[in-house]
Parts: sequence; structure tokens; C-alpha cells
Amino acid sequence: MRILIVEDEKKMAGFLKRGLEEAGYSVDHAASAASAEMLSGENPYDCIVLDIMLPDKTGYDLALSIRAEGYKGPILFLSALSSTKDKIRGLDVGADDYLTKPFSFDELLARVRALLRRHSSPQGSKLRFHDLELDLVKRKVKRGEREIALTAKEFSLLEYFMHNQNKALSRTSIAEHVWDVHFDSDSNVIDVYVNMLRKKISSGDEKKLIHTIVGVGYVLRED
Ligand code: CA
Repeated sequence: MRILIVEDEKKMAGFLKRGLEEAGYSVDHAASAASAEMLSGENPYDCIVLDIMLPDKTGYDLALSIRAEGYKGPILFLSALSSTKDKIRGLDVGADDYLTKPFSFDELLARVRALLRRHSSPQGSKLRFHDLELDLVKRKVKRGEREIALTAKEFSLLEYFMHNQNKALSRTSIAEHVWDVHFDSDSNVIDVYVNMLRKKISSGDEKKLIHTIVGVGYVLRED
């Protein structure tokens, strides 16, 4: 899952980026509305976290322009403006949630999870495929009764596969959803991660679930 943070305060932005990355998300950061518009036009974000007081535009106007450009994912406002009027305005311009600063990071994470769940997995907090189960809240993966320990990146990669079962996924689309803007497209890092993930989810004589499609990429399917 890939998140865009729009925040002009450097310290706050760094804190958010680190925290969300530790939780397993790929995170890009924009310090102005202009750079946010550019990034959101170029990348498929699963969630956008928006500050309201930005140097070149208000977050309200930015939310409107991002929506007008076709972004349909969740928007969460994170602002020091805490009056009911501000919150109503934020929700009215197309935000899905509003959290006031100062906030607890755990609460922010829980809200981001809830938004992503509502938008991408209406079936609840667990994704299932064959005998594989991925718990988005506990961030745990099981195959049958066997618990599988994954790194944050592997988890994110598997989550993307689980959301796109039986669909051929190109390296480009995997990079766009699981990595951030600093991804080097010449590297073989995706193949390396897919191979590690494959070994972890199919050990011994367990059925292989992630398959290579030559010339295309990868697919999560049963045969
Ligand atoms: Ca600000």
C-alpha cells in the first residue's frame, strides 16, 4: 500500500514518513500543494494524508483539485485546526477522515488502516487466498496453521498480491504500489523480493501460489 504525505513542516513530515514506513507502507512526501498535485497525478496512491496549512494552497483546495483530477482513494486531513467548522469543511471538500494535531501515532495508524480497509477490502481485516491468510490489523500471515514471519516489505508485497488474486501483475505495477518514488527500475529488487516471499509462503511440499509469467511478471493463483 502506498501513501502520500502532504506536509510542509519538515520534522512532522519525517516523523510521519518513518512511522508509516515502519508499519510497512511505501511513503512519498510532498512539501507543497504543487508537488502533491504532481505526485498524485503520476502515482497510484492508496491513501493521501493532508495537512491544511500549506505554503502555496490550503489543504481544502488541494483536496478538491486532487479529486477533480480523478483520485478516488481515501483522504485524511491532519491539522492543528481543531474547530468543528474546520472539520466539517474538510469532510465537505472530499476528505474521508480528519485528525487534529497533536495526535497519537497509533491512532493515526488505526485510522489509515480503517480507511484502506473500507476502500480496498470490504471483506474485513483479513485477506484470504487458498489456505493463506493475511491479517491487516495484527499484520500477521498464516498458511493453514503455520505462522509466517515476513518483513514489512514482504508483507506489503503479499498484500498487493492478495488484493489482485488471479491477475497478472507486471513489475511496473508492483513497483508503483509497493515501492516509493526512489525505486530504481533498472534493479532486480522486485524479483529478489518475490523469490524470498515465495520461499516463505510455500515451504516443503506446500502448493506453489506465486507464479512467474514469462515476459509479464507474476501472478497469485492456485494451479
Ligand atoms: Ca502546515
